Amino acid sequence: MLDGKKIGVVVLAAGKGRRMQSEIQKQYMTLAGRPLITYALSAFEESEADEIVLVVGGGEEDYVREVILRGKIPGKICAVTAGGKERYHSVYEGLKKLTNCDIVLIHDGARPLVDQAVIARTIRGALTDGACVAAMPVKDTIKVADDDSCAEVTLDRSRLWQIQTPQAFSYPLIREAYERMMADESLQKGITDDAMVVETILHCRVRLVEGSYENLKVTTPEDLVVAEALLHSRG
Ligand code: C5P
Repeated sequence: MLDGKKIGVVVLAAGKGRRMQSEIQKQYMTLAGRPLITYALSAFEESEADEIVLVVGGGEEDYVREVILRGKIPGKICAVTAGGKERYHSVYEGLKKLTNCDIVLIHDGARPLVDQAVIARTIRGALTDGACVAAMPVKDTIKVADDDSCAEVTLDRSRLWQIQTPQAFSYPLIREAYERMMADESLQKGITDDAMVVETILHCRVRLVEGSYENLKVTTPEDLVVAEALLHSRG
């Protein structure tokens, strides 16, 4: 099915995670007995991926290698590298460390519950369409507020999707989009995910593939409780 195509993964674990309001960064917090970041790494270890780059905060590389990964760098991790100020800086650092892949999956390390079915769907989506993201229909009504915190517009919920990771791309495509964006600061404004980079810079269509409601991003303290409950329910 993969036809000899090589799959690289960038797992993001830099960033301060201020919304967690915790002394210890969320990616290193303990979740059901293990550091949170190790769940996503294990998922990609078990997947069809060939190599994984782990992006961590500047100066945290040795701590992660020795304390979080306990000196045993799992087989597919080819680099633990420092990220940057914004998420897209971290992604760019990760992309540069992957030299031999046809498809790249970019994943938030703060999504510990990613499963094999979602990973496989995003790989297939990138092979077929060149660019795809895991996504789920939004459950809530979404309104846009004005500066006074009053509802201004209610969006058509049937067309709204919450975008997750993995986001998967042909490597040359995402690399070119990132090279162009990093060379021009005006293109960096408001970038919150990788799909936006290929959409806005290369005008490329990005396919939405089915993610999972369990694939939540641990952002605020209550997310940890939910993630732990979901992990227990998986046994
Ligand atoms: O903060 P945000 O929700 O955008 O973070 C999503 C993911 O991106 C997290 O896994 C976080 O560790 C990562 N990130 C990063 N470098 C940054 C900011 C966020 O690797 N500068």
